[in-house]
Amino acid sequence: MADLHLRGLTRRYDTGRPAVDAIDLSVADGEFVVLVGPSGCGKSTTLRMIAGLEPLDGGEIVLGGRPVQHLDPGARDVAMVFQNYALYPHMSVARNLGFGLRKRGLSRTERKSRVEEVARLLELDGLMARKPAALSGGQRQRVAMGRAIVRDPALFLFDEPLSNLDARLRTQMRTEIKRLARVIETTCIYVTHDQVEAMTMADRVVVMRAGRIEQAGSPMEIYDRP
Ligand code: ADP
Ligand code: ADP
Repeated sequence: MADLHLRGLTRRYDTGRPAVDAIDLSVADGEFVVLVGPSGCGKSTTLRMIAGLEPLDGGEIVLGGRPVQHLDPGARDVAMVFQNYALYPHMSVARNLGFGLRKRGLSRTERKSRVEEVARLLELDGLMARKPAALSGGQRQRVAMGRAIVRDPALFLFDEPLSNLDARLRTQMRTEIKRLARVIETTCIYVTHDQVEAMTMADRVVVMRAGRIEQAGSPMEIYDRP
């Protein structure tokens, strides 16, 4: 659990206008922010900088009171969920879930009980021995979420996690992700181009355009104006 402050966050890939242009954004502890805006406006670059997957050309990232922009991705206490699930194909569901705990200095028993707890939360407990190839799209997405959740990160980043799923599954996972976000009470930033996702999931919608934040407000304020 932690609040997040972006101050003057900037990324310039080459000359010309920065891809992310000195943005300021504060996200409260436990808040679910949905980041929207046209393709190329800088959403993904912003997430990647927060995760530590992209260098900054300026600004700072303060998570739970601590500047993290100089830390490696693994040291930031941030988890990112992508649309291509990046599960290990040769590992069972249980081992996929437990993998992120390996370097934590937990005992085997502690790891097992944490994996079991998260599997129950995601209703994966009947699928522990399966390999990813033997799972449905929705089940794979849940394993991907579970891999992030076991590590109990301070911040969750979602980069269009549902865009590869069919409409029915997307609706189901939308509800599921919101349920999980409430249960684990973790701060979340969720990038999507799907207006329905933004309207139904967001505590607050942040609209980016051309590397800047154009607007921010409740879903009602953003989508229901006269
Ligand atoms: P979004 O996620 O909103 O679609 P991105 O953050 O992916 O936007 O991209 C923002 C801008 O930065 C775009 O103009 C894009 O072309 C550019 N960009 C993104 N990644 C790179 C890269 N690796 N090298 C050069 N330009 C990039
Ligand atoms: P490792 O050598 O990495 O511990 P394991 O195959 O024993 O590899 O397990 C990987 C992770 O998954 C560990 O955290 C383990 O506790 C957990 N795990 C393995 N099988 C199960 C299971 N059936 N139920 C719950 N957790 C499991």
